[in-house]
Amino acid sequence: MYVKVVFNLPIDKILTYKKPDEISDSLIGCRVIAPIKGKNNKGIVIEEVETIDGNYKVYPIKARIDLEPICSDKEFKLAKWMSNYYHSSFGEALFAALPVGTPAKKEKKAKPISAKQKPYLKLNDEQENVVKKIIESIESNNNKTFLLHGVTGSGKTEVYLQAIKKAVDMGKQAIIILPEISLTPQTIKRFAERFEGKVAVLHSKLSPNAKYRYWQMIKKDEIKIVIGARSAIFSPTPNLGIIVIDEEHETSYKSADTPRYHARQVAFYRKSQENAVLLLGSATPSIESYYYASIGKIELLTLNKRAASVNMPEVKILDLKKEKRADAFPIITQKLAEEINKKLEKKEQIILFLNRKGYAPVVSCSYCQRVLECPNCSVSLTYHKKKNVVMCHYCGYTQYLDELCDECKIGHFEQIGSGTEKVEEHLKILFPNAVIERMDQDTVGGTKNYEKIFKRFSDGEINILVGTQMIAKGLDFPNVTLVGVLLADMSLHIPDFRSAERTFNLITQVAGRSGRGEKKGIVYIQTYSPNNYSIEYAKNHDYISFYNKEIENRKFPLNYPPFARLVRLVIRGLDEEKVENDANKIADMLRMETYNNSDKIIILGASACAINKLNKYYRWNILIKTSSHSLLKNFFDKLKYNFTAQKDNYIEIDIDPVNML
Ligand code: ADP
Ligand code: ZN
Repeated sequence: MYVKVVFNLPIDKILTYKKPDEISDSLIGCRVIAPIKGKNNKGIVIEEVETIDGNYKVYPIKARIDLEPICSDKEFKLAKWMSNYYHSSFGEALFAALPVGTPAKKEKKAKPISAKQKPYLKLNDEQENVVKKIIESIESNNNKTFLLHGVTGSGKTEVYLQAIKKAVDMGKQAIIILPEISLTPQTIKRFAERFEGKVAVLHSKLSPNAKYRYWQMIKKDEIKIVIGARSAIFSPTPNLGIIVIDEEHETSYKSADTPRYHARQVAFYRKSQENAVLLLGSATPSIESYYYASIGKIELLTLNKRAASVNMPEVKILDLKKEKRADAFPIITQKLAEEINKKLEKKEQIILFLNRKGYAPVVSCSYCQRVLECPNCSVSLTYHKKKNVVMCHYCGYTQYLDELCDECKIGHFEQIGSGTEKVEEHLKILFPNAVIERMDQDTVGGTKNYEKIFKRFSDGEINILVGTQMIAKGLDFPNVTLVGVLLADMSLHIPDFRSAERTFNLITQVAGRSGRGEKKGIVYIQTYSPNNYSIEYAKNHDYISFYNKEIENRKFPLNYPPFARLVRLVIRGLDEEKVENDANKIADMLRMETYNNSDKIIILGASACAINKLNKYYRWNILIKTSSHSLLKNFFDKLKYNFTAQKDNYIEIDIDPVNML
């Protein structure tokens, strides 16, 4: 007997090995160790055959990893689709979809999460209506996709819970995808409280082997509900009834590694294959999804009111060009400081948001003006005061900050701009009697610290919580009545056609943390661009107007999604000139290959990436706008043929990219 094996490598060929005689059961779907050019690799058996055609030397596989298969036809088909759509090898796609853990020597079982059970809430009319439609669809197996647009606090989660309950009652399974940072104890508890003994949570802190054990339980239908970040979309549920993607606009649902899949796209494929319902939820739907809803490709469901008849918070804008600062603190206005004081007096809680960790984002020499840059990346280094280091937020490069500039040997380093660490320091001076905590990657190393700060805030022990986007989502604290966005412009100036959308989303999400209880909430947005439409519409909680404006911007002549599909090619390598040459060659080839369709394909570049150097690699990119990916098929075939053999540079193919830097 022979086995056909694929590997987590960029090779399209399927390799054949001899199956050891002592293995009598089928190896299909099992991982094995097999040699390639004398080196051992992990592979997956996708087929067994009696004979081989041709006369070549066949090596035996070295070892077997799985005693029972971890995947079957369904996963093979999914991987096939994924490798076609995202232009990876079949093996890379299959490995991306499977857990990396291994079976335990002794039979161990993973435990579903557990909590004291709570009854279901009585739905309001809006929720009732929405849940009814979703349930109808689950019952009739009509594999619909819904977009649930509901303002923050409108009770989307309760809708998910009740729709999922119905699916589970019907003997079906559910997958819920959340952004990693929303996998908070609070969110998880809400699911555990309703589905005792049925829920698995797959988060990044879980060990690979624990994930593997859950995987096998999900496969055997012993787990009914899977909650997890992006990769949980591959959960091998045999009886899938519903997939929920919360915060469907989230960019973290797109994988940054080959295959660069988007969980939403994979979900769409799976629900079609398995006759399930796909429910996309957001307070700020992606422009693409809302467009598809507006033309009837998917069904729009709306929740207009906050659930617990709480009003939306009032939002006020503070113009950083005009407002006086609180003492000499660059990023806290007098007005905001006064409001914070009022809330502190009332013992209400405050969240301040700044999406920049560290003390100062730029460090420069007072004499020679040199700005400290990462040696590996074309970005400036951020100063972290507590550790007295400068750090690259892209590659992690870290060095101590010298007293004197090591180039001119005259000047001292000045810290320019503000990060969360500096804000915390200033807040402690401004509000000496308040308890202030910071939540960002520096203070929240592991889950433990996160949960500690989280619990203390929840118990009211912390007055002011300052943090990065870690605090922007999912937090539901009724005593928070003031939210401050310290610098709303940050995401506006990123060279990306989605920067307005990101800004609108972020402000709306953060603002949604305020006034979730009985007390009225208020939000202050500090900005240098008070008239920017994304900020103005966010102020008025006006998603529809924002959408209408934004969708116009995306149309002809710019032709951005949803009016065109994008493909981004990034060519990277250690030699800048070779990268540039290859990038230009590829762009030329692309123009030649698509010449006959030049009315349907727009090619931008090759040009240097916005982050020209990352992790020592120089990077150039080509952006393709097309009405259909299939018009590019010949080009991709040629690209593989002409360039993959070449060792100098690596080509990243990004279909429907979300990262344009
Ligand atoms: P979203 O997910 O849309 O932000 P949540 O589901 O978190 O909203 O709901 C916001 C708050 O409203 C929560 O505290 C939740 O318990 C409450 N809530 C949701 N639905 C109802 C309801 N039908 N009746 C009363 N309270 C509700
Ligand atoms: Zn770096």
